[in-house]
Amino acid sequence: MSLYELTAHALHEKLKNREITAVALVESIYARIAEVESHVKGYLTLTKDIALEQASHADAGFQKGDEMPPLAGIPIAIKDVICTKGVRTTCGSKILENFVPPYDATVMTKLHEHGVVMVGKTNMDEFAMGSSTENSAYQITHNPWNLDTIPGGSSGGSAAVVSADTAVCSLGSDTGGSIRQPAALCGVVGMKPTYGRVSRYGLVAFASSLDQIGPFTKDVTDCALLLNAICGSDALDATSVDVPVPDFTRGLINDVQGLKIGVPKEYFTPALDTEIADSVQRAIAVLESLGATVEEISLPHTEYAIATYYIIAPAEASANLARYDGVRYGYRNENPEDLIGMYKKTRSEGFGEEVKRRIMLGTFALSAGYQDAYYKKAQKARTLIKSDFDAAFEKVDVIATPTSPTPAFKIGERTADPLQMYLSDVMTTPASHAGLPGISVPCGFVQSGLPIGLQLLGPPFAEEKVLRVAYTFEQNTEHHRQKPKIQTNGVV
Ligand code: GLN
Repeated sequence: MSLYELTAHALHEKLKNREITAVALVESIYARIAEVESHVKGYLTLTKDIALEQASHADAGFQKGDEMPPLAGIPIAIKDVICTKGVRTTCGSKILENFVPPYDATVMTKLHEHGVVMVGKTNMDEFAMGSSTENSAYQITHNPWNLDTIPGGSSGGSAAVVSADTAVCSLGSDTGGSIRQPAALCGVVGMKPTYGRVSRYGLVAFASSLDQIGPFTKDVTDCALLLNAICGSDALDATSVDVPVPDFTRGLINDVQGLKIGVPKEYFTPALDTEIADSVQRAIAVLESLGATVEEISLPHTEYAIATYYIIAPAEASANLARYDGVRYGYRNENPEDLIGMYKKTRSEGFGEEVKRRIMLGTFALSAGYQDAYYKKAQKARTLIKSDFDAAFEKVDVIATPTSPTPAFKIGERTADPLQMYLSDVMTTPASHAGLPGISVPCGFVQSGLPIGLQLLGPPFAEEKVLRVAYTFEQNTEHHRQKPKIQTNGVV
C-alpha cells in the first residue's frame, strides 16, 4: 500500500517507529494530488509550503524521541468554511473570494497543538447551503467512485479528498447533514458530534443553532482520534457545552452485546432506494448477529423535519449573512451610485442563487405577520422532533437508519429543482434539530458501484456509544476497505 492510502493510526505507528517521515508523507499525498486532483477537484486552495513546514516540525519531535500526539504529522484537509489564519477562507462564495482570516478557528488552534499538517482547504456549497457541492462559486467536485456523480454536500470536497486519498482525514461542518450525507455518498466515515461538543468559534456561521464541526476519516478509529483533538468547551463560543470530554478511543470496543438498537419505521418509506433499504437492513442484521437487540421504533414527527429545517436554517442564515455588506469583508462592488446601492450591488453580485433563495426564505419567515405562522411554528415542530428522540432513547441505546435516501446522483440532475435537492436531507435533518451525535459508516454498494452509508445516532453526548456500534460493525465487515478506482482518463 502507498502511504497516502493508510489511516492516521497506521501512519502514526510508522512515524513513531521512524520508518517514515512526515515530510515523506506530505510528498506522497502531493504526488497523489498531482495524479487525481484535476479529476476530483476537491480542493479550493492547496497549502504545500505550510504542510512541509508543519511536517518538518513534527519530524523534529519524532527524531528527538518525544512523546508525540497520535495526529502529529498527519495530513488533514479543512473545509473552506473554517477560518485558517493567513490562509484564504472563501466559504465557496465569491463574496469571500479574497478573505484571509486574521485568526484561527478554535478547532485549528487545537489541531496545531496536536501537530497535524494542513494539506489545503476543500470545496463546498456556498456558505454550506446545498447537498451536492454544485453550489460552490468556484468548481464542481466529482465523486471519486464515479466522476459523473456529485460527492454530496455541503462538505463534498472534504468527503471526496478522503475517499480519493488526497488527504488522510478532513474536517467538515454539518448543519442538516453536510458531514454524514457526503460521507455516505463517498464511502468514508463522517461524524457530526453533539451540538455544543466542538467550538464553533471561527466556523463561518450558517444556522448557528444547528452548525457543528466534525471529522471525515477512513475508519472509525481515526474518527475517535480526531474527535479527541477537536472537542471541548471554549470560552469563545457561548454554545459550546462544559461537559468532560472522554477519551473517545474508549468507545472502540468490538462488542455490541447488551446494546439495544432502534430502527425507526418512518425512515423506510417508498421514497427510499430499495438497494439502500436492503443494504441497511443487512447491516442491522449483522449487528444483531453480533449480539445487539434490534427493535422497531417510531419517530412520528420525522415527516416534518425537512419543512422545519428549511424555515429555521434560512431564518438563521438571513441574520448571519447580513454581515456581508461590502464594508468589512471580501467582495465590494466598485461603481455604486450611493451607499445603499453599494450594499445592493455587492450582495447581488457576491452571492449565488441558492444563498439568495435562503436569505429571501429566511427573511420572509421572520417578517412581521409571518413570524408566528412560520418561524414559531417551526420551532414548535423542532421541539416535537426532539421529544420523539428523547422518548426513543428511553428504550434504545442507538438508532440505526440509512444516511441518504439515494446514492450519489448525476451532476446537474437536481440543480434545477431546489425541492428535490432539499429532500436529499430527509434522513439527516431530524437528528440535527435534536442536536444529536450521528455517524455515517460505509455499509455496502449499489449495483452501479456507488457506496451506501449506515447512519447511527445516539443521545446527546453519547458519542462513545455511537462509536462502539460503528466500530463493531466495521471490525466485522470489509466495506470501509474498498477504494474507488478513479478514472484518470476520460472525464475531466
Ligand atoms: N443540505 C442541507 C442544506 O442545504 C444541509 C447543509 C449543511 O448541513 N450544511 O441546508
